[in-house]
Formats: sequence, C-alpha cells, structure tokens
Amino acid sequence: MAKLLEVRNLHTSFSTYAGKVKAVRGISFHVDEGEAIGIVGESGSGKSVTNLSILRLLPSESGIIDEGEVIFNGVDLLKLSEQEMRSVRGKEISMIFQDPMTSLNPVLTIGYQVMEIIKIHNPHMSNAEAKKRAVEMLRMVGISNPEKRLSQYPHEFSGGMRQRVMIAMALSCEPKLLIADEPTTALDVTIQAQILDLMKDLRERLNTAIILITHDLGVVADLCDRIMVMYGGVIVEEGTTDDIFYRPRHPYTWGLLNSIPKISIGIRERLVPIDGSPPDLLKPPVGCPFAARCEYAMRICVEKMPEMYEVAEGHRSMCWLLHPDAPEVDFSEKGVR
Ligand code: SF4
Ligand code: MG
Repeated sequence: MAKLLEVRNLHTSFSTYAGKVKAVRGISFHVDEGEAIGIVGESGSGKSVTNLSILRLLPSESGIIDEGEVIFNGVDLLKLSEQEMRSVRGKEISMIFQDPMTSLNPVLTIGYQVMEIIKIHNPHMSNAEAKKRAVEMLRMVGISNPEKRLSQYPHEFSGGMRQRVMIAMALSCEPKLLIADEPTTALDVTIQAQILDLMKDLRERLNTAIILITHDLGVVADLCDRIMVMYGGVIVEEGTTDDIFYRPRHPYTWGLLNSIPKISIGIRERLVPIDGSPPDLLKPPVGCPFAARCEYAMRICVEKMPEMYEVAEGHRSMCWLLHPDAPEVDFSEKGVR
C-alpha cells in the first residue's frame, strides 16, 4: 500500500512562563492510504499535539514545531504557506474533535453549517446542489429525516447526533485522511459504539485513512489496523492491533491493557490504574520517560533513553527490559528509582 502520510522526527514544544515544554520529542510514523491507525496514551502524552502539528493548528503564540517533516501525498506540509495549508485542511485532511458543541455554531442551523463547508470546497456549486449534497451526507451518517433536520439548530440535536453531523461535515469533501481526536469521549457507551461503527463503515465505503486519537485502548481495537502507544512525548510501542493486544512488549502498554474494563458474564472487573503521574516535559527525563512509574525500572532506565527496537516486523518497542542490545543489566537492581 502507498504511504499517505509520513511523519519524520517531529519535535513540537510550547513556550510558557516557566520555560519550554517539550510536548512531542522526536516521533516518526506513517499512515498508508485507507489505513486506520490509533494513537493511544493518557492526557499529556503528546497525541493531540501530534495531530495539531500535522494540521498546523498549534496556538500561534506558543506552539512551535522545532524540527521534523510531515509528508502528505509527497508534499511536506510544514513547508506550505498558510494559504496552501488552508486548502489541505478540510479538503484533503479533515478532523473531528471531542466536543461537537464547541465546533458547531449555536446560532446557525445545521443545514447552513453543513452547506457552508460543502460550498467552501466547491465554490461553484449552486445552493440547491449544496443542499442536496448536505441531505445525502446527513443520511449517510444515519440521521433520519435529513430534509427537516437541516433547518434545526445544534441544541435540537443530541450529543451523539451532533457528533454524526461533525463526521458528515468532515467527510463531505471526501478527504483522504480523517483525524479524529477523542471523538467519542463525551458520549455514552452505546452511542460511542455506534459512532465507531459509522467510522468503520465510512472508511470501507470511501477508503478514507483514519488517525484515531484516544486515551482508551479499548476504543481502537475494532477500528484500527495498527496502534501507536505514546508516553511522555514519544512513541513507546508500535505494532498491529494484534501485536499490541496479544503480544505487547512495553510495560506502559501492559498497564494500559490492565486498565481496560473487562465485562464478563455480567461482572465488571476492577480497573487497575497505573500509579503515579506522567513526566514533567519542562524538564524531560534523560532516561526512559516511564521509569518513575515502571515496576521493572533498572538503573540503565534512568540513565539512558531506551532505543526503539524491532520486536518483529512492524512491531517496535522502546524499552530496555527486552532490548536485545541493552547493556549488561543486573536484575538485582530491578526497582531502582
Ligand atoms: Fe520500564 Fe526501563 Fe522499559 Fe522504561 S526502559 S519501560 S523504565 S523497563
Ligand atoms: Mg488530547
């Protein structure tokens, strides 16, 4: 499959009064055409910043891409002018965010907003044509009676329905890539499953590649081909969905898997959260970012950043514990912090 997006050695930081926060510290990954990947990690791991860097939507006063390349369809997006970038956003790369209420304008009808997006990207389209397309899009995302719904306002829609509208808007230009940042977090479990099914179905029909960003590993299982696990501004493990769920090779991934609620025969097992908090990225640790919370941490872990190594083809982990080239480790030091 052809590569659609390739992020190379991306470094993004924020300047704050306290100093420079190194939010993303040299990450590389790719997305093939029509592929769905999940970026998973807790808040502050750098997953949203990665997405905002790709789209060049960092807050202009404080966010800086220090280094790296974002190659989309053979073009480095970081080298485009703001105007060129605007025609990529929404048309070739679309995004949906967590809270559709903040992305929809409360004083404009749903129809106006959907048609406006369609017309921005198809300036010569007549109103009648744009309306017809808006109806089609709403129907495609499973909104019944779309002709009537067009004249309603966002508050007349439920949270799940608003998220469907956002997906319709994001897909109305048939983008090659859809970036969805916690698209189901604000929704209840049933609606969440419906929205994920919808994304899965749309991907099959339109061959849209998807980057799904979430703090919940459970959410990505069904939709994504590959998963990237982020922690402390770096990717700590990357592999197929099966690799991550059945052959995980990083202690942080093990912790995330333990924190997925398992519902078996009506008994909801207790969640096992990972103790401690993520590293301070104002002063990122020199060694492994997870060392302070890792029950396997050894001396080498705090002294030297582990290298990414290939566990198997396409499966990579950044951890000294199983690293084939790790310097001699005295396991009696296990637990050194
Ligand atoms: Fe734990 Fe060390 Fe692996 Fe980091 S490198 S995850 S501290 S064992
Ligand atoms: Mg986020």
